Amino acid sequence: MTINEVRSKYLEFFKHRGHTVIPSAPLVPQNDPTTLFTGSGMQPLVPYLLGEPHPKGNRLVNSQKSFRAEDIEEVGDNRHTTFFEMLGNWSLGDYFKKEQLPWFFEFLTDEMGIDPQRLYVSAFIGDESNNVPRDTESAEIWRLLFSAKGVDAEIREIGSESDGYRRGMQGGRIFYYNAKKNWWSRAGVPENMPPGEPGGPDSEVFYDFGTPHDAKFGAECHPNCDCGRFLEIGNSVFMQYIKQEDGSFALLPKQNVDFGGGLERIAAAASGNSDVFLTDVFSDVISLLEKYSGKQYSDSGFVRSFRIVADHMRAAVFMLGDGVRPSNTERGYVLRRLLRRASLHANKLGLPHDKSGDDSESILARAATILIEKYKMAYSELDGESAFQEIIQAITQEEIRFAQTLVNGMKEFEKIAQSGKVDALEAYTLFTTYGFPFEMTAELAIERGLAVDSEGFAREMKKHQDLSRAGSEQKFKGGLADHSLKTTQLHTAHHLLLKALQTVLGPHVKQRGSNITAERLRIDFSHTAKMTPEQLQDVERIVNERIADALPVVRSTLPKQDAEMLGAEHEFGAKYPDMVSVYSIGPVSASLESPQFTESYSIEFCGGPHVANTSDISQGGAFKIQKEEAVAAGARRIKAVLL
Ligand SMILES: [Zn+2]
Ligand SMILES: [Zn+2]
Repeated sequence: MTINEVRSKYLEFFKHRGHTVIPSAPLVPQNDPTTLFTGSGMQPLVPYLLGEPHPKGNRLVNSQKSFRAEDIEEVGDNRHTTFFEMLGNWSLGDYFKKEQLPWFFEFLTDEMGIDPQRLYVSAFIGDESNNVPRDTESAEIWRLLFSAKGVDAEIREIGSESDGYRRGMQGGRIFYYNAKKNWWSRAGVPENMPPGEPGGPDSEVFYDFGTPHDAKFGAECHPNCDCGRFLEIGNSVFMQYIKQEDGSFALLPKQNVDFGGGLERIAAAASGNSDVFLTDVFSDVISLLEKYSGKQYSDSGFVRSFRIVADHMRAAVFMLGDGVRPSNTERGYVLRRLLRRASLHANKLGLPHDKSGDDSESILARAATILIEKYKMAYSELDGESAFQEIIQAITQEEIRFAQTLVNGMKEFEKIAQSGKVDALEAYTLFTTYGFPFEMTAELAIERGLAVDSEGFAREMKKHQDLSRAGSEQKFKGGLADHSLKTTQLHTAHHLLLKALQTVLGPHVKQRGSNITAERLRIDFSHTAKMTPEQLQDVERIVNERIADALPVVRSTLPKQDAEMLGAEHEFGAKYPDMVSVYSIGPVSASLESPQFTESYSIEFCGGPHVANTSDISQGGAFKIQKEEAVAAGARRIKAVLL
């Protein structure tokens, strides 16, 4: 089955069950023109899962473009890709387990034609010390579903992942795992959740490729084993509970379902082949590379390069489609890296940088053309002559620049090589100053029998680079997984910081960009002069005072004009819908009639999420500014942490 077929069958399936299709958000967050991509993209749904009514109703479905920069180095095996589409369906206080699990099962078996004998599932084992019961309801639903298909499905206990390697399959099909594997909340496992925090069990579905277990992972195989026998293809999160002040768990008044599934993985399972690169999207690109290079994908010496070119070109096409262009900063740099790695590996296949033989088009441009053709029906940003021209032109220009870089880097490498070795700092300088990829340095060094220090190089890189940290290890926990408690604390601190900057520096201070990770926050703002140490101290002190004031943080949805009248901060140049979400820090309620609103400390256009009270930030530590610097003409940048 093709990628396009899987996607449209999934959307149709849920449309017939009362769901509204919502379009994929762009890879580039619209409200934040400077950030890197987030791991998975469903951020806009977080407030609705926490109780806000969604304008499109209670049943939603979509296929979301996603990109994980931290997977760039991992591409090359049979399952890692940087770009992927995540299928999602949501119940916002509507249906629950007894609809969700049968629907997904029916979709996999009847629509995708997957043999139910190949499917294995997990459920939450329960947490006695926190009084959260075992999810017997999900396990029982699964047992009946398998039984209706004539599959005997025994329920077995596993517990932790390491228990799994000890206990093994035990003849079961439905497995209870602990909170680390089968529980979702923004703060993680039940004991880490603060009072007022929602969470619940989840249930994963795995496809069994039937390959032999590899004992280097552990004695026994089990569904969460990493040996490659099982592939997780989807996860239903059931937002069922809320943590009480006394530490116990109560049922949420409105329970939600947040499902996430890997489109390419489901396609791989439907074909019974564990190599996602054999799905149609990639295999067409791979055939093209085979044709021009004369090399075979089945040749183990080249398979990695085939996969890297196919993966990186697909990710690059989608980034270009969303308006990113190659550059030396942030996401532009990620795109540049993808294109240059693709070019390098095309080279390894024996394909030249600029020409693919019979006419003027480069091999990368040809690969991009295939990908655009595949996806343009589903993603309108790739459709049309001008989109096509712009994407191809950007790729071609980058290839030309890269070819020049290689020439210059090569000259520099020759100079260094005369000393008889390439040390870590030299390799790093080749990379940063000449743009010469480390892979090239290493390869040339090996060819000449020179020593090269790759670990030292990696250390240099780590010191200087804080890219590729978005995302989380839980791939299919829906978009919610990115919202760790720390990120949420930093986000609220970010609002306090903007207000404090205006107080100290003046009302001309406007936000020009922002980026928040679990480690730090960053804000770009309009201001010309370097801030003095006194000003920095004042800002820091004010933010920490507001945290200590324990101000409530309130979200409201109101017409854009009303929000503007209230003086809500918004980012210069950003586009907002007619109804906007606003976060105010300080007020009890938020409406134009409410006098408290004007007294609130800070009001911003923002989709959240935020902590409920500024005092919740203090659990993360004291607010500390780490760096203040110029970022562009008339703009400064601050990096700050909770320590
Ligand atoms: Zn295994
Ligand atoms: Zn915000």
